[in-house]
Amino acid sequence: MTDAIAVLNAGSSSLKFSVFTERGDEFELTARGQAEGLYTAPRFVARDGAGTLLGEKSWGDGVELGHDGALDHLIAFLRAGLAEHRLVGVGHRVVHGGLEYAQPVRLDATILAALEKYIPLAPLHQAHNLAPIRALFERSPQLPQVACFDTAFHSGAPPVAQAFALPKAITDRGVRRYGFHGLSYEYIASVLPQHDERAARGRTVVLHLGNGSSMCAIAAGRSVASTMGFTAADGLPMGTRCGNLDPGVILYLLDELKMDARAIEKLIYQQSGLLGMSGISSDMRTLEANAAPKAKAAIDVFIYRIGRELGSLAAALGGLDAIVFTAGIGENSRSLRARVCRDAAWLGVELDAVANERNAPRISAAGSRVSAWAIPTNEELMIARHTRRLLGED
Ligand code: ADP
Repeated sequence: MTDAIAVLNAGSSSLKFSVFTERGDEFELTARGQAEGLYTAPRFVARDGAGTLLGEKSWGDGVELGHDGALDHLIAFLRAGLAEHRLVGVGHRVVHGGLEYAQPVRLDATILAALEKYIPLAPLHQAHNLAPIRALFERSPQLPQVACFDTAFHSGAPPVAQAFALPKAITDRGVRRYGFHGLSYEYIASVLPQHDERAARGRTVVLHLGNGSSMCAIAAGRSVASTMGFTAADGLPMGTRCGNLDPGVILYLLDELKMDARAIEKLIYQQSGLLGMSGISSDMRTLEANAAPKAKAAIDVFIYRIGRELGSLAAALGGLDAIVFTAGIGENSRSLRARVCRDAAWLGVELDAVANERNAPRISAAGSRVSAWAIPTNEELMIARHTRRLLGED
């Protein structure tokens, strides 16, 4: 029997999971997969660490499996498929830790109730993240559960980086810049010393570019600024989110276009970004393969905004030693990385085009003053590490 830790990431219509088993000091990925389309056409798939199919099931169009149904299916799958492992804990990705939780935390009913207070701060994520925690407490009260927050890594950022220029009474209600994707940044910061010790001790900007995209300035392993703010709608344009927007636009939408809050929410979270600009797709691969001028124009805005934010974050750091590309677009899109690096030549980035084509971790030329990297992120592993550490503290 080896100990195993399950990692859950519950979204609005999906439940993603990974199972890690302990191998000495490190973890081995034993299974990963997801149940998706939970309210429309549920489908479950699980693969082992090498990508071999372990299990699959479809429920058909129109079936509402829901989060609880997906969790029950996952528990049954894990019981049958991982019989030789002992599940010692579950780590959850939780988007918001608010002002209170600057570190991962071992969960109990009181803490779960405290985290529910943050649902209004992340209306599209928090409630879904917390649902499987409550359901697991009901099903297996003895099973230790840990919450790891996307905000936590940024909680030590300087006050000036966290402030909105709003009256203090509003700031005191928790309206400030939090920053997200913290588990991804923490993972990259944890592996950066293996790649570039100078940068790990110095000043790095990490570009987490996926469906959700943000960038983070890291000084000696700590977040000092990020492009995301109060919500994950701020900063860069994303697959379907607009990124930063003059607040006057919201007033215009309210007053002149007579949109209500829900319609604006839909606009800024689901109908904007690459999808809204191109009118074609939110998916970078699809846009890169499309010759239409609107596809190119959307990518152009995305790259332009990345360049602007890179300058801003380099200023927050007072200089730059390295940039790291990660997440779906950052890890895979050679053309985007090449363009971002070319635009960043003024900062001292010099691309090695051959290394970039190979996705080699180091994609900058030997003499480049600022090194550039493409490093796969691993938020699930970061959660498993935190979970094991907290279980060991009993
Ligand atoms: P999420 O934020 O949902 O975790 P990912 O990190 O998986 O998303 O990133 C998804 C994005 O990565 C999509 O826009 C997808 O098109 C893009 N992507 C994945 N592979 C490639 C590729 N080879 N070239 C360009 N973009 C890619």
